Amino acid sequence: MLRKDILQKLKQHGVMPTSQRVEVAAILLARPQHLSADQIMDKLKGRGSRVSKANVYNTLKIFSEQGIVKELSLDSSRKFYDSTTHSHHHFYHVDSGQLSDIPESQVSISSLPPLPKGTEQESVEVLIRVRDKGR
Ligand SMILES: [Zn+2]
Repeated sequence: MLRKDILQKLKQHGVMPTSQRVEVAAILLARPQHLSADQIMDKLKGRGSRVSKANVYNTLKIFSEQGIVKELSLDSSRKFYDSTTHSHHHFYHVDSGQLSDIPESQVSISSLPPLPKGTEQESVEVLIRVRDKGR
């Protein structure tokens, strides 16, 4: 993603484009991917960036609140940030900790329960946990 596109995207979502936020966005929005805060930190360090961990966490929180990325919590200790924000499905490989997308067309759900009273459906997202065979 070009720098001008990143600036435009942050503005569109009401996020002030500070240099640290632009650095984080440049990594996360480079392609469709799922990264943890630690993976983003490593990539920033690899680029010689001085963005602090606190700043990265804060930026990711703002990005997910403003819909620039989607936060995926797999358990209490594992969070990933997904650069694809529309509703979609995932495989989660529990051994490697890798997440990958499942195309919308490959999942069909034939029956869903009635929604709780006073609610409307926002999205249906499937997470399929997989592990190496024969463990
Ligand atoms: Zn995804």
